[in-house]
Amino acid sequence: MASSQDELVFLPLGGLGEIGMNAALYGFGPETDRQWILVDCGMGFGSEEQLPGIDLVYPDLRFIEEERHNLLGIFITHAHEDHIGALVEMWPRLRAPVYATKFAIGLLETRRLSEPNAPKIELNEIAPGQRLTLGNFDIEYVPVAHSIPESNALAIRTPQGLVVHTGDWKLDPTPYLGSLTSEETFRKLGEEGVLALICDSTNVVREGESPSEADVARNLAELIRNAPHRVAITTFASNVARIRSVAEAARECGREVVVVGRAMDRVVEVAKECGYLDDLPEFRSADNYGYLPRDKVVAVLTGSQGEPRAALARIASDEHPDITLTAGDRVIFSSRAIPGNEKAVGSIINSLIDQGIEIITDRTELVHVSGHPRRGELAKMYEWTKPRIAIPAHGEPLHLAEHAKFAREQGVPEVVRAKNGTLVRLAPGKAEIVDTIPAGRVYKDGNIVIPAGERALPERRKLAFAGIVTVAIALDDRGEIAGDPVVDAMGLPEKSRQGRDLTDIIADTVADTLDGLSKAKRRDSEAVENAVHRAVRAAVNQEWGKKPACHVLVIEV
Ligand SMILES: [Zn+2]
Ligand SMILES: [Zn+2]
Repeated sequence: MASSQDELVFLPLGGLGEIGMNAALYGFGPETDRQWILVDCGMGFGSEEQLPGIDLVYPDLRFIEEERHNLLGIFITHAHEDHIGALVEMWPRLRAPVYATKFAIGLLETRRLSEPNAPKIELNEIAPGQRLTLGNFDIEYVPVAHSIPESNALAIRTPQGLVVHTGDWKLDPTPYLGSLTSEETFRKLGEEGVLALICDSTNVVREGESPSEADVARNLAELIRNAPHRVAITTFASNVARIRSVAEAARECGREVVVVGRAMDRVVEVAKECGYLDDLPEFRSADNYGYLPRDKVVAVLTGSQGEPRAALARIASDEHPDITLTAGDRVIFSSRAIPGNEKAVGSIINSLIDQGIEIITDRTELVHVSGHPRRGELAKMYEWTKPRIAIPAHGEPLHLAEHAKFAREQGVPEVVRAKNGTLVRLAPGKAEIVDTIPAGRVYKDGNIVIPAGERALPERRKLAFAGIVTVAIALDDRGEIAGDPVVDAMGLPEKSRQGRDLTDIIADTVADTLDGLSKAKRRDSEAVENAVHRAVRAAVNQEWGKKPACHVLVIEV
């Protein structure tokens, strides 16, 4: 039971200082013997330039892996990838029961079953508004509006006070589908006394309040109605409200909906099971598309972020087996490019425009709205919950800093600027950072999860920049060269500026270097390797202005 040394602490392992990889720990107990709960277990995406070959990035959960015997449960706020995307991969290291709503469980299961050898995860379904007790934690799921069904804030009650962890949320009086963010519920929490509010910072730099999902639906309906030919709409697969509003608009004007892309198929399947697509005509599969008249179809596509293998990119480059678009068709980007994806999205847009296809984006029409709160909405949350402590979360450093300033302006007495790995004591006493824990990221590299510090990635970047030269030399025990050295180059230009083969230049350099070594030196394979390595890189640098990696293999025969 609770004792006088019990502390309530907050320890984010991901999501503070970046958009993505949300993973936050709450701990309760004396410093040496705490119990933990983990809120969310999300992923981020690699960038091809920085992390060649890496698609997915996960938070480094080392701390709680070592403490897993004290981990009571993992609580999923909602099913966006930045909140659940690391769970299938990381769960075997944690093995704690997972709590999530029906829709999130459905998506987790379809993803798990699509991966070979995925572990069976202990999933427990939570109903909206449900409350459960684990150890000293009493956790309540509080429904909020967001851009995916069944999003929740968590009201976490402990003997040291009540924390409201908002998760991702917005105020939307007409969310089209799913929950409202209930003023009454949050006001009641405020009356109960909120010790700390851990709140979404994504849109803190935007003034006012977000438009409603219902406004977007009205606009999309108009754009579908007045389109002369085909309409293709790309959006985030998980935005079921958007998919539903497109389907309703299509029905109104006698068009069929064709759903294209694996991620979209998965979401549609789970959304149907949960009843979010009831009372709509059946969607048609992609292979029906070619048979439908041009003015009788709306295609809903994956690939709004420019992902090269997703439906939209393949259609734009005319590589999709079922779906084609031609001049006069209309493509609507019911989405916004996540920072980092702008180039990829821009190149798809340009390619479609070159083909005479009309493009509509949120720059000129209200065809997308964010699922995160702007300043006007945040101000209300602070007014309703009246927290003693505010900790900005879910944002890049700029967002967190702006949010901290904003929270002070709202009159919050204690504002803590936490980062991934900072252990914040929320109670007893004044909130403060009391420790720093190793945190960071790990990478999914093919089928293997590697630490961020591993040398594979800097090596890959170097190889991409300057290639590699391999030299194989056979030496007998007297230090004589047996046969000609073999030279192979990868990623280097073929010819020098004077038109000589670079491999010839390298081969000559190798021969000269070996000639220049004394017999005694040539019997020392390490000395040979070093001399050839140095000479080859210098010679290539002189011709090319770049130093490739160089592997020298000395074989003693
Ligand atoms: Zn999020
Ligand atoms: Zn979200």
